[in-house]
Amino acid sequence: MRNSITIQRWRIDLYENAIYVQRQPDPRCADCHGRGDIVRGPGIGPYGEEPDFEPCPCWDPYRNLRIPLRPRTVINERYPF
Ligand SMILES: [Zn+2]
Repeated sequence: MRNSITIQRWRIDLYENAIYVQRQPDPRCADCHGRGDIVRGPGIGPYGEEPDFEPCPCWDPYRNLRIPLRPRTVINERYPF
């Protein structure tokens, strides 16, 4: 089960200890067309080299909002009845 939802450009991931909110690339961006990266250089080379990808300025893949969650209460005692 994947604990993430996407609302327009915002992706929200739920983890055990925190919620992460991140803005995704702009789908109407003229540079990356919503992929989030721009290819620099000639592309795939003659020996199959990967092209250089650079993050598009329409988003920041390293920036997100972290909302910490309180640790869950664990009850180890048995009820006396
Ligand atoms: Zn872009």
